[in-house]
Order: sequence, then structure tokens, then C-alpha cells
Amino acid sequence: MGGEFKDECGVFGLSLKDRSDYMVRHMFLGLFSLQHRGQESCGISYETDDGIEVVKSRGLVSGDFLENLPKNVSSKIAVGHVRYATCGASNLINAQPLIFKSNKGDVAIAHNGNLPNSERLKRDLLLKGAIFQTTSDSEILIHLMSMLPGSDFETSLIDSLKTLEGAYAMLVMSNDKLIAFRDPQGFRPLSYGFINEGVVFSSETAALTIIGAHDITTVKPGELIVCSNGAIIKKIDLSGGQKPAQCVFELIYFARPDSVVFDEAVYQFRLRVGRKLAQNRHKDTDLVIPVPDSGNVSALGFSRESGIPFDLSLMRNHYTGRTFIKPGQQLREDSVKMKLNPVATEIRGKTLSIIDDSLVRGTTSKKIVKMLREAGAKEVHVYLASPEIIGSCYYGINTPTTDELISAQNKPVEIAKIIGADSVTFLSVADLKECLTDSNAFCYACFNREYPTTIDELSCKGCF
Ligand code: SF4
Repeated sequence: MGGEFKDECGVFGLSLKDRSDYMVRHMFLGLFSLQHRGQESCGISYETDDGIEVVKSRGLVSGDFLENLPKNVSSKIAVGHVRYATCGASNLINAQPLIFKSNKGDVAIAHNGNLPNSERLKRDLLLKGAIFQTTSDSEILIHLMSMLPGSDFETSLIDSLKTLEGAYAMLVMSNDKLIAFRDPQGFRPLSYGFINEGVVFSSETAALTIIGAHDITTVKPGELIVCSNGAIIKKIDLSGGQKPAQCVFELIYFARPDSVVFDEAVYQFRLRVGRKLAQNRHKDTDLVIPVPDSGNVSALGFSRESGIPFDLSLMRNHYTGRTFIKPGQQLREDSVKMKLNPVATEIRGKTLSIIDDSLVRGTTSKKIVKMLREAGAKEVHVYLASPEIIGSCYYGINTPTTDELISAQNKPVEIAKIIGADSVTFLSVADLKECLTDSNAFCYACFNREYPTTIDELSCKGCF
């Protein structure tokens, strides 16, 4: 279930008309609003008279990072990042933004996504003499830029993008420009809006509305936007007519329900999914209960469609971070109990429809079903707000290998037995598509293994 799916990353950046100490406040609020997309590290880079400065910390935006933020600094361009390591080791050197002093001037980069051809590109660059500072695939772009002739930052960036494949929503800054772009298929989201002082970009619109941005819109797949002095000075279409393949899991799980992602309101989408699931329900149970938080809105849709009362008797403790739980620790075993607890008085003797976003390995759902039965539930019917996950993701989502995916190995009836549920029901791919405004614009590869790019055997096996 949701807890088994790892987060990815979030980017946030701005270009202001004038240098302002608002920069730090906006960057903090923006990254704080994207915290759900990555909790391992965070950082901002910003322009100064002495070049680009960077502040990075491990952990949460409200942790050491807040303490380390510069005081009394005025700047007009900044980019920021919250990170979950989908590629490259989880240490501070790989924390973003990455900054470089290059023959194109100071450059900082914040990247959400994954480059399936990264290992091949890196091998070629090493042969040409590149010296890598990090193990992050995002650094490849800087080396591609620096190896091109000429000193123009913008031209070298655009030319380098022709070599990249895969998923990238990126913010790249020099001392006087902010450039935002999505890969031609638009796997990862990126939006922008306007504030009095300039232009703001974010992985999700929730971070834009929180700082009061207006006229919010999506950076289109393959679109590149150049900003300077708080204004958009150029937009270029680099899509090459490729078919979009936006990650449908952003809508199912990653994005906040108060965001609009890929021009789709996440809350509305999840309500529709819940209604679809209810139309395929096995029986009318006593209660509909979400696995919080990612199952909340779909459970509400399920309840509205079925007329079965919505109930919150699976409680989430919001104070459980994951950074302090080290692999192999006993605490990891207890992590589900630390995070979720049933309200026995409400579920004892009842039949339940449990709504969650997805099923990955099945280990978390097994623990949840056991917990509910121990609390006295009479029947537990599990509904998933996504189809069966049968393939790994190569585009920035840290899914396990196929042999660890419970749906790649088992039918729903077998899965019900494994996790101890009375039944398990998945959303069908057809029903998922019906819940989308433009179903042709999405990637469904983890449900049907039809990958929208070629997958490079050399690349980044550690991610999968
Ligand atoms: S394979 Fe799945 S998780 Fe990865 S981009 Fe496609 S839809 Fe998203």
C-alpha cells in the first residue's frame, strides 16, 4: 500500500524583478509545501554578487535547513529541491541543487526525474575527461553543457537536452537567468504562476497557491521557459511532436490532493476513482475506511457512490518521519504500527471496505489487515485506487524489481489470501483511463509494461 511506494523529488524556483529578501521566505514556504515529495535532503541556491551560493541540509525543510537558511540576503533568482534518492547515493554531496563553476559561468540545477540512458552518457563523458563530483544522474547535464563550444549558457543547455532521454522536470539557473523545462514526454510535473515580484515554478501547484501565486498554468511536455528579471522572456517547444507520457501515479499517489497536476485537479480525480471502485464493489459493508492519507479522497468518493458511511477509524500518526528508521533496524518492523492504529470501538464486529492507493509488495497491507482483524473487524475487503503494478518504473519512481511486486506474481484472489483479506479489488486500467480528462497523455507502464522509451540496460540498475 501507499507506504511501500517511495517518494520522489520536488523542485521550486523563482525569478524576481529586483533583488529581494522575499526570496528566502518564498523558497522556504515553497519547499515546505513540497515536503511530501522527499524528506532525505533539501536545499536552495541563489544568485549573489559573488556568484551562486547554495545551502543544503539533510532531513526536513523545517529541520537543520531552516536554521541554516541565510539571514538578510537579497536575491532575484533561486532554485530549490527536496530529495528522495531515486538514483545515486543518499548523501549530502548528492543533495540538490547541484552547483558548478563552468565555462558557461556559475550554474545550479534542481531535477525531478530519472534518466534511463544516464550510465551510457556518463561512461562517454568520463572517456572525454569529465570529472564527476556526485553520483547523481542530474550532473550529466552540466558536463554535456560544458563540453559544447561557446560560452552561452542558454544555447548550450538547449543543445544538451537533445542528448537526454527519460524523465526530467528541471530548474536550471545562471547568475541572470532561470530556465525551466520538462522532457518531451512530460513524465514529471512542473507548473508556474506569477506573484507581484515575478515568476515562480513548482513541481506542484499547492506550493504556488500557498505563496499567493496567480494565473497558474502547466509547463507543457517538451516546453522550455526562459526567465530574467522576474519575467518570461522566451518559450521554446522542444517536444518534437512526441506523444506525452505523464506519470499517472502523480495523480494516484504522489501529488497533494490540493494540487492541480498535468491540468488535472488531483482531488477531483481521486473522487472519480473512488466512485469507479464503488461501482465494482463486492458487497455493501458497514463502513468505508481510507488508509490515510493517500486513500482519503478515494474513500470519500467510494462512500458517496455507494451510500456506505465514511469512517476514519484507521488513524495516522503524523509525527513518524522515516529518516530515523535505518534499514535492518527492528523499528522498521514496527513502522506500520508506529504510523497507523485502528479505533477498535468503531470497527469491532463490523464489515469494512478499506481503500488504499496501491499495492506494491503487499507487506504493509498484510500488517494493516492483521491489525484490523485483531481490533475485531468481521470482514476486511481491500480496494486499491490503482491497477495491479506489474512492472518497475524507470522514470523517477523508486519501485522494486518485478519479482518483488505482489501483482506481478499473483492474481487478486491469491493476493487476498496472502494479505489475509476477504477480497482484494483493483481499479481496472480502463476505469482509470475513464477518470482522466485526456487519457492519451499518460504513462501506464507499471500496469502494462508498455514503456514509452527504450530502456538502457546499462543505466542505473540500483534504482530498480
Ligand atoms: S512506469 Fe508507472 S510510476 Fe513510472 S512514470 Fe510510468 S506510470 Fe509513473
